[in-house]
Amino acid sequence: MFVGHFAVGFAAKRVEPRVSLGTLVLAAMFVDLLWCAFMITGVEHVQFKPGKGAANYFVASNVEWSHSLAMDGLWAALFAGGYFLCRRYTRGAWILILAVLSHWLLDVISHRPDMPLAPGMHTYLGLNLWASVPSAIILEGGFWMLAVIVYALTSHPRTRASVYVYWSGIAVLTLIWLSNLTGPPPPDPRTAPVISLAIFSLFVAWAYWMNFE
Ligand SMILES: [Zn+2]
Repeated sequence: MFVGHFAVGFAAKRVEPRVSLGTLVLAAMFVDLLWCAFMITGVEHVQFKPGKGAANYFVASNVEWSHSLAMDGLWAALFAGGYFLCRRYTRGAWILILAVLSHWLLDVISHRPDMPLAPGMHTYLGLNLWASVPSAIILEGGFWMLAVIVYALTSHPRTRASVYVYWSGIAVLTLIWLSNLTGPPPPDPRTAPVISLAIFSLFVAWAYWMNFE
């Protein structure tokens, strides 16, 4: 899943306006950022088979340190604990725990059965939503569109320029998501995690900028 994780951040901002949109998006995408770092350092591995669409070409052969349920729970506790130490805001910390945990649930919905329960445990879950492009577009795309439209209608951008930056960012994210769903695999598996880490970090920074009142 991709834009669905961003949608969680936007939806959470409506539930908890005191936490920055950037922090909420960072929480929802946190294990994907770890996953990039773990692939760059060789801790985790994925393979790309020939084929169109991530559901066909993407093989998560070892993602148990970033993406297992047990580790997601640990990352959620560490993320929210770090936030609480900085901000001393209990409700915000609980929302961030849920945002980090939501990543595992949404990836289980979209992935083939490759989502681990815990490191070393050979039980994998996945409902494979991404295998059906129309279902993914309707369900994940629908959730994404709903989240960004509600956010746009209920927030107050400071300048006209930030409205353009908002919709431009959403257009680029949507195009990246559609190319993941339907396009070919990345040309070079070694540079793919570096490029993904750069894109994820850029859009977390964008979400901090888009934190409107
Ligand atoms: Zn993920």
